[in-house]
Amino acid sequence: MIARVSLEIALRKEFDYSIPPELEGQVDVGSRVQVPFGARKVLGVVTAAAEESGHANLKPIIKVIGTQTLVTAKVLKLARWIGEYYCCAPETALRSVLPEAVRKEDAGWRERLFVRVLPVIGGFPKLPKSQQRVWNIIEERRGILLAELAALASTTAATIRKLEDRGLVSITNEISVRDPYANETILASQPIVLNPAQAVALQKIKAAMNRNEDRELKIEDGKREPSSTLLLHGVTGSGKTEIYLQAIAHSLEQGKGAIVLVPEISLTPQTVERFKARFSSGKLQTLVAVLHSHLSAGERHDEWHKIRQGRARIAIGARSAIFAPVEPLGLIIVDEEHESTYKQEESPRYHARDVAVMRGQMENAVVVLGSATPSMESFYNCKIGKFTLLDLPERVDNQKMPHVRVVDMRQTARDGKGPPIFSPQLKEAITQRLERKEQTILFLNRRGYSTSLQCPKCGYLANCPNCSITLTYHRPEQKLACHICGHVEKVPPACPEPKCKNPAIRFAGTGTQKVEDILGKLFPHARIRRMDADVMKRKDDYQRVLGEFRRGKIDILIGTQMIAKGLHFPNVTLVGIIYADMALHQPDFRAAERTFQLLTQVAGRAGRGEVEGEVFVQAFTPFHPAIQFARRHDFIGFYEQEIEFRKQLKYPPSSRAALLTLKGRNEDKVKFSAEHLKRELEKLTKSTAASAAVVSTLVDDAGLFDEGVKLNTRGACVPQANAFRDLIISGPSPAPLLRAENFYRYQIMLRTRAMSRLSQVLAHIVGKLVLPDDVMLAVDIDPANLG
Ligand SMILES: [Zn+2]
Ligand SMILES: [Zn+2]
Repeated sequence: MIARVSLEIALRKEFDYSIPPELEGQVDVGSRVQVPFGARKVLGVVTAAAEESGHANLKPIIKVIGTQTLVTAKVLKLARWIGEYYCCAPETALRSVLPEAVRKEDAGWRERLFVRVLPVIGGFPKLPKSQQRVWNIIEERRGILLAELAALASTTAATIRKLEDRGLVSITNEISVRDPYANETILASQPIVLNPAQAVALQKIKAAMNRNEDRELKIEDGKREPSSTLLLHGVTGSGKTEIYLQAIAHSLEQGKGAIVLVPEISLTPQTVERFKARFSSGKLQTLVAVLHSHLSAGERHDEWHKIRQGRARIAIGARSAIFAPVEPLGLIIVDEEHESTYKQEESPRYHARDVAVMRGQMENAVVVLGSATPSMESFYNCKIGKFTLLDLPERVDNQKMPHVRVVDMRQTARDGKGPPIFSPQLKEAITQRLERKEQTILFLNRRGYSTSLQCPKCGYLANCPNCSITLTYHRPEQKLACHICGHVEKVPPACPEPKCKNPAIRFAGTGTQKVEDILGKLFPHARIRRMDADVMKRKDDYQRVLGEFRRGKIDILIGTQMIAKGLHFPNVTLVGIIYADMALHQPDFRAAERTFQLLTQVAGRAGRGEVEGEVFVQAFTPFHPAIQFARRHDFIGFYEQEIEFRKQLKYPPSSRAALLTLKGRNEDKVKFSAEHLKRELEKLTKSTAASAAVVSTLVDDAGLFDEGVKLNTRGACVPQANAFRDLIISGPSPAPLLRAENFYRYQIMLRTRAMSRLSQVLAHIVGKLVLPDDVMLAVDIDPANLG
């Protein structure tokens, strides 16, 4: 037998190896193996088994890595789709489906010495006092870690060994599971009675799950129907999580598991606890496994294996948890589906929400996407009938939506001296909250003190030497820092221009540090805390500050997007957004969408308790639609107007986009390479014959992602002669941030409705393209960020 192996070193190629007799029966599709490659030994994944190979003199597989670490056939198929659709080497896609801690050969289970009681044979011996004390503890506990027992009995291992010599206990190495939540006591929770809107939504999700179960019986005939994806559009505080919990319960009743994706930043103990409380308390110790980057490698290894072995049926985690080996899978939930953090910004550049939709289709699982501010893409998919829309228009417990006031900061700027930070209206509102002992959240998505340093005399501007961006002034450390590459320098005492030397250099632009500073002067008795990446250095800082805020030890919390998501504090009755239009002026077609989402999410933090919330949105462009629709909590209104703009300019979701970025240290070479690439693209996509030759082996799932793709009776795609009739190639043009970390970047943007097909053409071009040594090309399908 022959095994076809995809190696972990990215070669965009698979290699055949023979299976030696001693490994027969151990090598399967999905097995992870070590194989010889030239003089090296490398790891890889078996992607297929074959009777014979086109190559002679095959080398044998050296060994199989762990019987449990294999990639399941379903996840393998998903990885192949990622490689094809996102236009990356298949081994790059494969590598991303297993966490590092699981993939490494040496990482494994932690074994520790356990003491266990043995049945007493004959009479019980009279023990010396010290041994009797140990026995009293162990007799009650039956089994305990040796180290823990020694500590409890204040004795040494040697004393415990004496009990072993008497045949009373056994001491053996056993696997000890590292549970990141072992020290938390979680009280069980019961399902809550749903309000009518919640009940309807849950009923529709359950109906989709039941339909999928029926379909499973008929699936043998090979016919594929699109699986069910539902978009749960519920305003902030409308009780989406309770629906998720009850839908998961239904999945478990069907004998299937679930995956829950939440943005990394929302993966707080508060969130995890809600899922554990319902499914992992008491006897159900291990039903929920948590996967995220804050766990130690050992914990990640153990949590992953809990899922792999079926001891945990529910996986909850950030982006990469979409690859959790839950089997059989009944339900995938993507909470806050609009979040751009679901998109991985390095290869494979996959979007976890889209991977979820694809995985749901492949495994016949229901996918629920939830958000108060759905992405344009998902809402559009509801409009064209690909997804089903579920609505939760009201908050639970009759809480009212917060009252949003837009403050025209141009007025404040005219009235005051210097740059306005707090309007009189916001100052007054904060004063009231301090008097009433209610809490305030202030939001500004820019850290540091001042965002630029300028010389008014000669026009000097402190720029990063490696990036085309200004340096931010950080007052506590008296330094200038680049927020792109991390470059740091001292604050100059005078203008550094040799001919100028003006000592009166000026700081401008406001960051969170300055807000904190000025707020402290305005309200000297208020307890103020700041929450941004500069103060949240350790992983528990975030939890500690939120804990203090919850206990009422902080009056005003200032923060960046860290505080925008999912936090629920009943005593917060005021939210102030310092500069609401800051993100509006970015050169990105999603600027308005991002602003609308951010304003709605931040505003949603107010009024989550008894008292109605109030939100002040300070803006220099107060009449911008993104701000006005957010003020009225009007998602549909925003969508209707935004989709017109996207359709006119053929931007997603009315088409799909791919961003090709070339970067290198020599700007001319980068520019030249970009122009060369554009000519190649035009050649290939304009010639129908050439593109038909490339697009011969189409992924059979293209129908989900491409519009107008015809499926033949066997479910395979039929290549169409006019595949790229709608293709738009724009650029090359300098990236909005032309220079980053010393690399010049030029971009070409492609737009088409047939992205699966375009990806294949791109893979073909990328494979053949000859670039200068120091110019690199990155292909980003469905880019989230145009930076
Ligand atoms: Zn100067
Ligand atoms: Zn920089």
